[in-house]
Amino acid sequence: MDFSSKLLENAVYEMSQLPGIGKRTALRLVLHLLKQPNERTKGLTTALSNLREGIKLCENCHNISDVQLCELCASSKRDRSLICVVEDIRDVMAIENTSQYNGLYHVLGGKISPMEGVGPQELTIGSLVKKAKSGEIKELIFALSSTMEGDTTNFYIYKQLEGLDINTSTIARGIAVGDELEYADEVTLGRSILNRIPFEGSLKAN
Ligand SMILES: [Zn+2]
Repeated sequence: MDFSSKLLENAVYEMSQLPGIGKRTALRLVLHLLKQPNERTKGLTTALSNLREGIKLCENCHNISDVQLCELCASSKRDRSLICVVEDIRDVMAIENTSQYNGLYHVLGGKISPMEGVGPQELTIGSLVKKAKSGEIKELIFALSSTMEGDTTNFYIYKQLEGLDINTSTIARGIAVGDELEYADEVTLGRSILNRIPFEGSLKAN
């Protein structure tokens, strides 16, 4: 791409470093921003630099927060004996949106993935195990993706908790709400049969 301006070229380059944004899209976005009033562009750059400088990780659950202890961990209404282990903040948001969970979270910051060079040390597993050893926790719920990396991470943590008086559970894996049975893949359908729940429990969830 030939640019008539070095400033434009730099802005397009920076924009194209974002995931899923190619050079053409980056150019379109930058030209769009140029057409906006100055305050709009300033608002965007200020929000981003404030985010970068002001953001913290909650010292208890490692969720992204503006303060040292996030709103969830600071709340007296949450059950502190229940911890839901998730990969990142998007999972916290998704589970919170269900309004079905009243415990706390532990954000790992990823999954164990030797292929991508992510080992247990790169994640917040150490702090989770320390928390588990403190005796405050009664149950850990594994809510990681149903992938090989997710299962490996669950199992690694599970092994670390050996000997501790803590219940561990995983979120149910099975037929999605609204799905036709005949279109479900064999693994999902098989797990649904194995992980069946009492009928009364299924009524409560609706
Ligand atoms: Zn927190």
